[in-house]
Amino acid sequence: MARKINFYAGPSVLPVEVLEELGKEMVDFKGSGLSLVETSHRSAIYDEVHNNALSLFRELLKVPENYRILFLQGGATLQFTMVPMNLMGNGGTCDFTNTGAWAKKAMADAKKIGRVNVVYDGSAENFMTLPDVSTVKPTAGSSYLHITSNETIGGVQWKEFPDTGDVPLVADMSSDILCRPLDVNQFGLIYAGAQKNIGPSGLAVVIIREDLLERQADNLTAYMAYKTHAGEDSLYNTPGVFPIWATELVLKRMKRLGGLEYFDKINKEKAEVLYQVVAQYGDFYKCPVDPRYRSVMNVVFTTPSEELDKAFVSGATAKGMLGLKGHRSVGGCRASIYNAMPREGVEALAAYMEDFARENG
Ligand SMILES: *Cc1c(COP(=O)(O)O)cnc(C)c1O
Repeated sequence: MARKINFYAGPSVLPVEVLEELGKEMVDFKGSGLSLVETSHRSAIYDEVHNNALSLFRELLKVPENYRILFLQGGATLQFTMVPMNLMGNGGTCDFTNTGAWAKKAMADAKKIGRVNVVYDGSAENFMTLPDVSTVKPTAGSSYLHITSNETIGGVQWKEFPDTGDVPLVADMSSDILCRPLDVNQFGLIYAGAQKNIGPSGLAVVIIREDLLERQADNLTAYMAYKTHAGEDSLYNTPGVFPIWATELVLKRMKRLGGLEYFDKINKEKAEVLYQVVAQYGDFYKCPVDPRYRSVMNVVFTTPSEELDKAFVSGATAKGMLGLKGHRSVGGCRASIYNAMPREGVEALAAYMEDFARENG
């Protein structure tokens, strides 16, 4: 079987050895005579997978003891609601940096729960840049300050994080969690949907500083309260058994390869390969993003016309390279090159980009 090269933004590429192991163990998990996905989530067999995934996550990201890691469902989108419900208490104010499509969605939901101050608004620059972190300050009385660490659609990524003092910094890291080492102490809460840089869809990860578990609104139903999940080790209700199992395998592989230092290095190298081609063929390709904030996960670029963008994408598809069409809201082209994208995939794309520019420039 010839595997395609997968540049989809999400769900997205998974390591082939993880897919193979899932296949191998799918019907008879470790000789148990059952599939893990038809086994009780209270069984010893599942418990081991669940706890392994949680502890590998803690180990890889060096999550300090006073933070809890929660495995939830509802994607990052449910966190747009759960974060304000749990952190603003009974009515309050939070701060947002408006950096693009995902920040806007998170902000729209937070506004239904409390008051939102916009402390940075990138709309005038069409969201192609980010603020200097030293200028990003929380407002007085704010419950938290929210950033989107990587705007998946715009291809814009924070390289440093603002110091928000006593006000917890909250980050939506859906598309770049685990792409680089992180000082988790800089954050009050981190959340991410799994299907970009972790595993399959159906899992969202929340990392929350323990003291923040006490802030929740009084009227929260069980699922909506982080405290419920923290008190039950993310087993209050049936977890996403399959995505958590796949995540365990992804994290094991990451550890084996050298952890986040390794991925930081190769992610930067992979992104550089593509940004170099864009620079080298600068009369043909344009990357609209401020060079200081270009994402190592989602590389966006355009050709000289919409017709050529289309031809670029269909030519790539014919060569087995999928998912290069830019998001419908911005157009152009986008290569999502998450942790699991091998360097060879990026090199194949770079070679095609060069050929395409020479033939059509
Ligand atoms: C994909 C994405 C989301 C939405 O994730 P779901 O899991 O589909 O809810 C939110 N934020 C960012 C930055 C994303 O890339």
